[in-house]
Amino acid sequence: MKKIIFATGNQHKMEEIKSIMADLPYEILSMKEAGISIDIEENGTTFEENSLIKARAIMNIAKEIVLADDSGLEVDALNKEPGIYSSRYLGEDTPYEVKNQEIIKRLEGVEEEKRTARFVCAVAAVFPDGREVVKRGTVEGIIGYEAKGENGFGYDPIFIPENSEKTLAQFSSEEKNQISHRKRALEQMKEVLS
Ligand code: IMP
Repeated sequence: MKKIIFATGNQHKMEEIKSIMADLPYEILSMKEAGISIDIEENGTTFEENSLIKARAIMNIAKEIVLADDSGLEVDALNKEPGIYSSRYLGEDTPYEVKNQEIIKRLEGVEEEKRTARFVCAVAAVFPDGREVVKRGTVEGIIGYEAKGENGFGYDPIFIPENSEKTLAQFSSEEKNQISHRKRALEQMKEVLS
């Protein structure tokens, strides 16, 4: 079976990705499974640029098809922060309980209509022949008034997707994978790969 390496060190994301890509005729390997360990500086200015930077760097080492994603949360009332800095917001090692509380605090007094936000995911594919493709998926929603739920990761406990009463951290992983930004970007990428 042909191989695809997915350039992420995030175990949660890797599980979501493997489940979304399960029906493709490719073996999906994490960087760890492919025996690759490097730190890539994400110095792009958009999700798309950052995903390409990561995929190119790994493809140059592995010479296999490499996919990489870059994702994050845009909060409209905070000028789209934390955006591409989502994992680095308040410091890479700061627990998400703290990051989430800070966002809720910064939105104190902001009414529901203005609490709009979205998760964005850009997925890049870089092929050994040099071809490059990038796809974007988003899920719209609002920032809740308190953190709720135990599932998922990152900003899931404060994000309420549109047409829902509950936060993404209250969705099961199967439910989240139906609507997530990553799912929407990867579905487009699957069409390119199949
Ligand atoms: P990346 O690994 O550089 O793409 O950073 C993504 C960051 O965005 C994560 O560390 C989280 O902070 C946030 N993020 C991306 N996708 C999700 C999600 O599905 N749920 C919650 N937070 C997410």
